[in-house]
Amino acid sequence: MATLHVPNLVCVQQFCSFCEDVEDARRKCVQCRERKHSYWDDLVGSILSYLCEPRPWVKVIVAIAHNAKSFDLQFILNRAVLLKWQPELIMKGMNIMCMKMEHLVFSR
Ligand SMILES: [Zn+2]
Repeated sequence: MATLHVPNLVCVQQFCSFCEDVEDARRKCVQCRERKHSYWDDLVGSILSYLCEPRPWVKVIVAIAHNAKSFDLQFILNRAVLLKWQPELIMKGMNIMCMKMEHLVFSR
């Protein structure tokens, strides 16, 4: 019997060139504003929507997930395929080491 893994929480902490040296992520940044976000509903859709919000000052967003190669990127990849995006993958065996699509780079 196969086991289906389902994510139940996504927490994001971000930084940009203005706030990268500010350790307290609760402090709002003048450019990227709120630096901490949490999602409980439609996690994958919510995080992708968030990452795709307009940010004219950004060319590329790099998303680093602590367990990306084993689980986290599988959820993103499944949604990307559903959306007919064409991700570029760097694999190591069955693990996704890096995934690039649109202006997003996901890594472990
Ligand atoms: Zn910032």
